Amino acid sequence: MSRKKKIEYHSYMEGHIRYMICKVCGRYESVGDEATAVKCSNCVTRSIPLDKPKGYVPTGRPAGWHWMKEFVDKDGTVYHLGKEQPKLKGTLKPKKKTKRRSKQEILVARHKEKKEAIKKAVKKQQDFLNHNINKEGKS
Ligand SMILES: [Zn+2]
Repeated sequence: MSRKKKIEYHSYMEGHIRYMICKVCGRYESVGDEATAVKCSNCVTRSIPLDKPKGYVPTGRPAGWHWMKEFVDKDGTVYHLGKEQPKLKGTLKPKKKTKRRSKQEILVARHKEKKEAIKKAVKKQQDFLNHNINKEGKS
């Protein structure tokens, strides 16, 4: 009986669970019986950002900028539908990004909305009551 010799990473059994050493960081991770090498969950998670497509360079431009009729880059370069317009460079000001609201501001806005809604509801009720009273008064 000839068995192919495989490179096996160190593993051990604990009860019915087999643990194998992570080939990246050396942490032990529970594995199936068939596993010969394992990457622990930590290393798997860590490796995800590296899976970006090759050559991906963040431009800092908004998604779909090259479909915009007119897009002004931070340095003043003007693009029409993604085509650079060198003559127009610097003639237009880049649109200011809408400031991201802080949590506090969002909460305040939400609170305002709520207050406004309550106000409206109260007014509606008052109107309703007034109408009823008027109706009753008239009839
Ligand atoms: Zn690991």
